Amino acid sequence: MTYTKEYFIRFVEIFSKYLAENKEYLTQLDAAIGDGDHGINMDRGAKAALERLKSTNPSSPGEVLRTVGMAMLSSVGGAAGPLYGTAFIKMGMSFGKKPEITDEELIRGLRQALDGIKNLGKAEVGEKTMVDVWEPVVKFLEECAKEGKTLSDVCAEVIALAEERMKATIPMQAKKGRASYLGERSIGHQDPGATSSYFFFKSLCEAIGGR
Ligand code: ADP
Ligand code: MG
Repeated sequence: MTYTKEYFIRFVEIFSKYLAENKEYLTQLDAAIGDGDHGINMDRGAKAALERLKSTNPSSPGEVLRTVGMAMLSSVGGAAGPLYGTAFIKMGMSFGKKPEITDEELIRGLRQALDGIKNLGKAEVGEKTMVDVWEPVVKFLEECAKEGKTLSDVCAEVIALAEERMKATIPMQAKKGRASYLGERSIGHQDPGATSSYFFFKSLCEAIGGR
């Protein structure tokens, strides 16, 4: 099975829908341990990305993702803008100009995105950030790829794992970003960026149905 640019556009549309529906929720999570703008930031970024896709009509999966990343970089702001922007751009760059992406290439692209997030933000697992969702999911997908499984084969597990890792940020103390200023008071709250990352992977999976 391969992934065309239509798949990636559909993924961005679904991600955008989740971010719009959960704008208040993400904002409330960020209000508890940050400055309450994560939902607003991400919703604005996703809308800007969709508009940019419409006006530029990119010709390949890589170009779709690079376009989304650039739109997020220039419109999201905060910590999440550069982090998500980098993730989309790195993933897009790893696809080059290929018209269709295989499962192996998709997973390699997600690894590039994760490495981009970590290089920029310097967060490790356990520090209550989006990395707490990204890293275990990417590692799981890499294991699946070794066994010859596709994303489609393991979608239910990916969504469940992302949700579990998102919830696992609740008892963590934030060590990176704005929430880290709270010290121990950041304990007991779910990380907003881990939550938007759960929606990212859920959208990636759900986009398969509409391919
Ligand atoms: P800001 O913190 O600038 O207001 P957002 O509210 O949009 O930005 O995003 C906050 C989220 O960004 C956090 O919940 C966390 O998941 C993520 N984040 C913050 N700093 C880092 C970092 N250094 N590495 C990875 N993720 C980070
Ligand atoms: Mg914030």
